[in-house]
Amino acid sequence: MIIEEAASPDEVEQFIGRLMSELAKEYNIEQRSLFATFSVGVAFWNRDYASAEDLLRDADTALYQAKRGGRNRYVIFEQAMQENVSRFMEVETDLRKALGRNEFRVFYQPIVSLGDGRLSGFEALIRWEHPVHGLVSPAEFIPIAEETGLIIEIGDWVLEESCRQMAEWKAADPNLSELWVSVNASCRQFNQPDFVEGVIAALDRTGLDAANLKLEITESMMVDNLDLIVDKMERLNGLGVRISIDDFGTGYSSLNNLHRLPLSSLKIDRSFVNRIEAGGESEEIIRTIISLAKTLQLEIIAEGIETPLQASHLENLECRFGQGYYFGRPVDAEHARGLLSADRPLVAEQTLQFA
Ligand code: C2E
Ligand code: MG
Ligand code: MG
Repeated sequence: MIIEEAASPDEVEQFIGRLMSELAKEYNIEQRSLFATFSVGVAFWNRDYASAEDLLRDADTALYQAKRGGRNRYVIFEQAMQENVSRFMEVETDLRKALGRNEFRVFYQPIVSLGDGRLSGFEALIRWEHPVHGLVSPAEFIPIAEETGLIIEIGDWVLEESCRQMAEWKAADPNLSELWVSVNASCRQFNQPDFVEGVIAALDRTGLDAANLKLEITESMMVDNLDLIVDKMERLNGLGVRISIDDFGTGYSSLNNLHRLPLSSLKIDRSFVNRIEAGGESEEIIRTIISLAKTLQLEIIAEGIETPLQASHLENLECRFGQGYYFGRPVDAEHARGLLSADRPLVAEQTLQFA
C-alpha cells in the first residue's frame, strides 16, 4: 500500500491503526468463523532511496520484524533491523539443512530426587553442532525454528531420538524401569492435529513404554483453544505419557485452566530458584507453587539448582525433584550413560567433569 500524501509520520501511524482495527475482525468462511490479525511493516521514502525495490525491501524487513515481535502489530523500519534480519535468514537457511546433515544432538540433564540425590530422570535438550559456529544453544535457534515451522520436524526428531536412547538404556539395565525422559514440546508442535499420533508412532518405533516418557509444555500454550489442548492431553495421559508444565510461574496460566488439565508435574522456573533465600519473596512464591501443586496432586520439579544451599532449601520446602548445574549439566548420551551406572547420589563434582 502506498500512502502518497501524508502530512507527517503520525498521520501514517494513525492510518495504520485504523486499517488494522478495521481488518481485524471475525470473518465467516464456509460456516466457520475465523479471526484474522494483521502485521504491517512501514518504510518512509526519502531521497537516499535509489529505487522502489529498495523501499519495498525495507518495508518487508519491518514486516518481518513485526511478525517476529508476535504479529498483530506494525513496525517502522530502522536501519539496525537489516542486520538482524540477515542473521535470522542465515540461521534459517542453515537450519533447513541441519536435519538432513545430521547436525542435531540430544543432550541429557539429570533430574534427581532431592531426598536422596539419586537420578530419577533426564531432560532431553537439543544442541546444534553447526559446521562453522560450533555448538549452538537452543535459545538461539528454537525461536527461529518455531517461527519458520521447522520446529515440527526438529521436535519429531528429538522425540524419537530421546525415546530410542531411553529404550536402549532400559534394555541394557532392567533396574531402570522407573527412569523417565522429559522431552520439550513446542507450542507449534503440540498444536499439530496429529501430534498425539506422532507420539504413539515414536513409542511404537522405539519400543519405549509410555510410562518412561514425559512431555514438557509451557504455560503460554494455554491461551489457545483449551478444549483442544485438554483433549490431546487426555489422550496422551490415557496412553500413560505424563505431562509437565515447564518454566512454571513465568506465564499466565489461570488456576481455572490448570485444574482442568491432566498434568503430572510443575517445573518451577529457575528465576525463582536462583533468588531463593530464607524468608525472601522468591521463597514465598515457591512455597505457594508447592502448596498449589499439592492441592492439585502434582509433583514439583525445581529447575536451575546451582548450589547445595538451594538444594537443601528446596528439600525443606518439600520439593520432591530438582535439576540444575549442581547435580549436573546437560551432557551427551555417552556421558549420561555413565550417570546411570553410578549407584550413588549425584553431586556436582561427580558430574561436572563431563560438562
Ligand atoms: P527449558 O526446557 O526450561 O530447559 C532448561 C534450560 O535451563 C536448559 O537450557 C538447561 O541447560 C538450563 N539449565 C539447567 N540447569 C541450569 C542451572 O543450574 N543454571 C542455569 N543457568 N541454567 C540451567 P538449554 O539447554 O539452553 O535450553 C533452553 C531452552 O530451549 C529450554 O528451556 C527449552 O525451552 C528449549 N529447548 C531445548 N531443547 C528443546 C527441544 O528439543 N524442543 C523444544 N521445543 N525446545 C527445546
Ligand atoms: Mg524444559
Ligand atoms: Mg524450564
